[in-house]
Amino acid sequence: MVTEREIARLREVIFRSKRAVFFGGAGVSTESGIPDFRSEDGLYRQTYRYPPETMLSNEFFWSHTEEFYRFYRDKMLVTDAQPNAAHKKLAQWEREGHIAAVVTQNIDGLHQKAGSGQVFELHGSIWRNFCTRCGRAYPTQDILGGEGVPRCGCGGIVKPDVVLYGEPLDERVMQDAIEAIERADNLIIGGTSLNVYPAAGLIDFFRGENIIVINKGAPARTMQGVTFLDGRIGEIFAAV
Ligand code: NAD
Repeated sequence: MVTEREIARLREVIFRSKRAVFFGGAGVSTESGIPDFRSEDGLYRQTYRYPPETMLSNEFFWSHTEEFYRFYRDKMLVTDAQPNAAHKKLAQWEREGHIAAVVTQNIDGLHQKAGSGQVFELHGSIWRNFCTRCGRAYPTQDILGGEGVPRCGCGGIVKPDVVLYGEPLDERVMQDAIEAIERADNLIIGGTSLNVYPAAGLIDFFRGENIIVINKGAPARTMQGVTFLDGRIGEIFAAV
């Protein structure tokens, strides 16, 4: 249970910020109905023929493309979700000049849907797809509506622009995210278990004043001098 005093502290840090960065993960979107990986009802607790890490790996994409697409369409390709209070507040705080950037591990596009302008998507987006042979872009509607393995006119396999396990992160996005974190006056971390690297390592570039973590349960990493609010991020942000 988060206290009024903790909310007041968060409010003070946010409204004093001029270039804070929000670093988040799948927990930011659970209140929009998208399951995360590691919660009680997260994807890692559900039973499939292969573990999710396997099905979301680059190796699996190429060796079991049809099965990859079955899982991807079924569980990852959530296109009708709406931003919750966490996404909306972050967009509002950006407009008001407190938040400089959102660095997200999410692939759902909900920060942009809520109106955030500066979003660094470390793991890509379900909203972009491209042919692995000729590079042609394909709308997500084509993936959603189709069956089996989506193919380009050139015969190549179409792949979502999401970073699969075993694939490197986009260097430009990483560099931009690092620069925003290095320049940040405050760092708000939320809805992430901080288990997935290299993404979780980016917070080490922070040199500013305060780190506030808002998460259901403590993340995998503990950091010195951090304020930790244990609860649902949408509810907590709505109360700020
Ligand atoms: P994770 O599943 O490892 O951790 C999520 C964390 O958020 C957990 O600690 C959980 O307790 C917490 N949480 C859940 N609901 C919350 C809420 N309402 N308020 C506050 N905290 C909440 O997710 P992760 O750290 O982002 O890392 C795993 C990977 O999951 C990422 O690489 C990401 O690409 C991928 N993923 C993304 C989506 C999405 O785009 N929405 C969904 C599932 C997984």
